[in-house]
Amino acid sequence: MKTIQPQITQSNKLFYNLIYSNISMKKKGVNRRDFLRLSATVGAGALIVPGATASTLDRTEQPPKNKFPLRKLGRTGVELPILSMGVMRADNPNVVRAAYNAGLYHFDTAHGYQKGRNEEMLGVFFEGKPREDYFIATKVKIDYPLKENYEQDLNEKLDLSLQRLKMDYVDIFYAHAYDKIEEVKDEKIIAALKKIKESGKARFIGFSSHAHKPELLHAAIDTGIYDVILVSYNFKLKNLKETEDAIKRAAEAGIGIVAMKTMTGGVEDAEGKKKINAQACLKWVWKNKHITTIIPGFSNYDEFDECLAAAQAPELTQDEQVYLASLCDNEMMFCQQCKECVAQCPEKLPIPDIMRAYMYTYGYKYAQLSKETLEEINLAENACSNCDSCKVKCPSGFNVVQKIAAITPVMSIPNEFLT
Ligand code: SF4
Ligand code: SF4
Repeated sequence: MKTIQPQITQSNKLFYNLIYSNISMKKKGVNRRDFLRLSATVGAGALIVPGATASTLDRTEQPPKNKFPLRKLGRTGVELPILSMGVMRADNPNVVRAAYNAGLYHFDTAHGYQKGRNEEMLGVFFEGKPREDYFIATKVKIDYPLKENYEQDLNEKLDLSLQRLKMDYVDIFYAHAYDKIEEVKDEKIIAALKKIKESGKARFIGFSSHAHKPELLHAAIDTGIYDVILVSYNFKLKNLKETEDAIKRAAEAGIGIVAMKTMTGGVEDAEGKKKINAQACLKWVWKNKHITTIIPGFSNYDEFDECLAAAQAPELTQDEQVYLASLCDNEMMFCQQCKECVAQCPEKLPIPDIMRAYMYTYGYKYAQLSKETLEEINLAENACSNCDSCKVKCPSGFNVVQKIAAITPVMSIPNEFLT
């Protein structure tokens, strides 16, 4: 009888390497979490399918959809796990793969993230996977007041996003970063968004907002056209009661609510030196049953592990509750976006946006997004040079002039050096 010799193909090599690493792992005392990371890198199915490569496995693998509690996204009727992935900071597709293999299927990106590379990464990752196995949200910022060619610009950006994502449609298309009721209610924007939905390029439409303004949610209910709203929501919000009332009203009106900024900047001190207890922050948000899902921006395996552990045991413990309560009055890094500073500043600097940029670098450790934010507001390098002393008294205790001085240099860093 003819003996068949195994052919050492590239894909087999991957398999043998993995088996070998599994055996040597035991010898070296590599823990289970490191092993899962290895398997996530090559594709979990490689452990049982000799000869398969990561890319072929991705096409055959069915992501487990019932590992986490699911909640309905308002009137869309779509059920999502309480944990989703904010892809914003991630530039390693293996972290996306680990999330997908773990059972997450809602991935949130934006046209502007990483100057388009974020969408491109998702496009490569999801290419060939059954479209119904994942749920993609992207966002485009609409300049306001509207420019003459606003609709053409919006559609060109959406088309480019779809091209990068290698998809015919996104599941949610958000108008990005609304700040005013006028934007929510603007009839021209509403008409443009409706057309996008009717064209089939987006299944659902919505908006995101960094502004912490409950009135935007009330306005959205009045319009009756927004399917989903992406809101900032965390235990530090000063207007928590009003925010929760508005979220409840919006959810009861059938709007799906997705939460971001849930970790208040990712650190528990004003200097950005001490990581916050991410699990406690996520669990606190899940207590609110009107929030469908959270999009924490994990970008590495450690951060993902924490989110995963939280989603697998989502009840907030007594200790976590006490811990969060102890942080409530600390300065930390989360700007309330109350804008009290803007009225006090003779230069009318967009300080809330600058504080957000500060948080991206010193909290999230994501300087690239800071630079993009500062470029958007066109911050001058010597913005505070006309003041002998800063006139701003921030109710959160922020020394704004110091923070402005600390973040302005980010604008001069060449993009290739930024993360
Ligand atoms: S810097 Fe202070 S005053 Fe200004 S928006 Fe933030 S929290 Fe409010
Ligand atoms: S120093 Fe303070 S008051 Fe003066 S421009 Fe800067 S932020 Fe505004």
